[in-house]
Amino acid sequence: MKKKLGIVYGGKSAEHEVSLSTARAVTNAIDFGKYEVIPVYITYEGEWRKGEPLLAPAETIEQLRFKKDVEKPDCIDDFLNGNDMPDIILPLLHGTNGEDGTVQGLFEVMNIPYAGNGVLASSAGMDKVIMKQLFAHVGLKQVPYVYFIRSEWRKDQDHWIRKMESELTFPMFVKPANLGSSVGISKAVDHESLIAAVEFALKFDRKIIVEQGVSAREVEVAVLGNDDPKCSVLGEIKPVAAFYDYEAKYQDGNTELLIPAPVTNAVETTLKEMAIRAFKVLDCSGLVRADFFVTDQDEVLINEVNTMPGFTPTSMFPLLWQNTGISYPELIDQLIELALDRHEEKK
Ligand code: ADP
Ligand code: MG
Ligand code: MG
Repeated sequence: MKKKLGIVYGGKSAEHEVSLSTARAVTNAIDFGKYEVIPVYITYEGEWRKGEPLLAPAETIEQLRFKKDVEKPDCIDDFLNGNDMPDIILPLLHGTNGEDGTVQGLFEVMNIPYAGNGVLASSAGMDKVIMKQLFAHVGLKQVPYVYFIRSEWRKDQDHWIRKMESELTFPMFVKPANLGSSVGISKAVDHESLIAAVEFALKFDRKIIVEQGVSAREVEVAVLGNDDPKCSVLGEIKPVAAFYDYEAKYQDGNTELLIPAPVTNAVETTLKEMAIRAFKVLDCSGLVRADFFVTDQDEVLINEVNTMPGFTPTSMFPLLWQNTGISYPELIDQLIELALDRHEEKK
């Protein structure tokens, strides 16, 4: 019997289009002899639209963008009532409601195995402040930072500016705590741009993190597994833009990826050990891409983990595994196996 594999993509997120590309690539990699693929498209408005089972790879992303069905506008009721459920779900979502634990919670309630991180790791990984506090707890080196929430800033802006300017030096990176893909992030170089950067970030989130800027190389590692996670080879990103912003990540295609990253053995060992420590302290499962800064003095600082990293065939995570000996289709198979294992473990 073929397993029913639900792929869930789109979503109420800035990464909606990226998610559609991932979904299309996944349908190209799936063994249709083994799986019946049930596509579930989440619109920008958050409506869940289930398509007919796919019998072949999607040729375009438009084929996966289902139009409104007047009779059955939303399939979430079906899922919640246990009608016509997939055997396993591959959530191919990013950002808010995608990799922040909310949709993972829904799959938990539905009692369906799903690939990737669970509720706790997803939500802790989405909040850059919580993530950094957990990293600090296990002694992971990172950049100094200051954080506050909107009402604190509104109440005493001067206090926060003084705090930032005394504890950190320019340039600083100002970020909404709960986003990804560089959305809402800016680099502040002086007093004026710092205030502007905070106001800008506050448009996206009520919680803001301001980090010490470092001049460093950006090196990433892919981690795969549940209780016994393994690291891929390392990759380095060489952004052409001022920093690795949204355009650099998804649009201009000019970002150069160096795989394997040219680092010393000592840096490689340290970085991989740190990645596993980060994976464990967030209680991750399935996959994570751990991102680091490597300074000129070869100091390794953890920047973040991404619990649902970019997953198109040209994204860093699959490329790192390809260079480690695991192809894109094999990677998908492994993520499905890991999801089923975790589901069993929970029983
Ligand atoms: P996201 O989760 O949106 O990817 P990041 O924290 O990774 O957010 O920041 C996006 C990019 O901004 C990084 O890849 C890096 O290029 C740059 N950046 C972020 N923080 C710093 C920092 N403290 N120092 C130097 N560059 C930074
Ligand atoms: Mg991120
Ligand atoms: Mg990042």
